Amino acid sequence: MENAATRLAEVKANIARICKPARREVDDVTLIAVSKTHPTDRITPLLEAGHRVFGENRVQEAQEKWPALREQYPDAEVHLIGQLQSNKAEDAVQLFDCIHALDRPSLLKALAKAMDKAGKRVPCFVQVNIGDEDQKGGCPINQLPDFLGKVRDAGVPIAGLMCLPPADIEPAPFFALLAKLARDNDIQGLSMGMSGDYETAVQLGATHIRVGTALFGPRGG
Ligand SMILES: *Cc1c(COP(=O)(O)O)cnc(C)c1O
Repeated sequence: MENAATRLAEVKANIARICKPARREVDDVTLIAVSKTHPTDRITPLLEAGHRVFGENRVQEAQEKWPALREQYPDAEVHLIGQLQSNKAEDAVQLFDCIHALDRPSLLKALAKAMDKAGKRVPCFVQVNIGDEDQKGGCPINQLPDFLGKVRDAGVPIAGLMCLPPADIEPAPFFALLAKLARDNDIQGLSMGMSGDYETAVQLGATHIRVGTALFGPRGG
């Protein structure tokens, strides 16, 4: 039986193996351990192994799990990686260290207001609808420069660009396109890559990879 600490060491070794020929520094890739659906007793072993950056996709679930974990591990960082409804913006600003799915003007407005109220600036990744999929969130590519201008004007710190490429197609071209969009818009951060494709994402410049299953095993399993 593999435990979480062993899986963590494996994923980190894979990142290091990819970084070397890609001439990248391991420290420039932040591994976000996606702990959504997993109870706190599955998360604690990773904290004990020294890991500090985690991802959740629901505000309410994170509210239930993280205040207690943070009492024990005050330097733990929690990122919101999923879709966010504008009416949850205040809770999200209070709870999270980083938000990965800023993708529309209405949410920008709600987040800017919540940040003013909380006196706290939470860095946000701007999600791009990289495969032009109707059912997916994300700013359309042709509206990206305009939307980034709006984010900057609102004083919301831009952590980078984020994408979820279409399922069941080779993801590399989408990662490369996100990297190009970041370069074109003077943005450094790239949140891309999950359990199945984080190695490709690191090769193509990911600064933040969001890995759940490879660390925790299957969800609901
Ligand atoms: C669940 C989730 C992940 C992690 O997926 P795995 O395949 O389990 O690594 C990454 N990003 C987002 C946005 C997710 O919702």
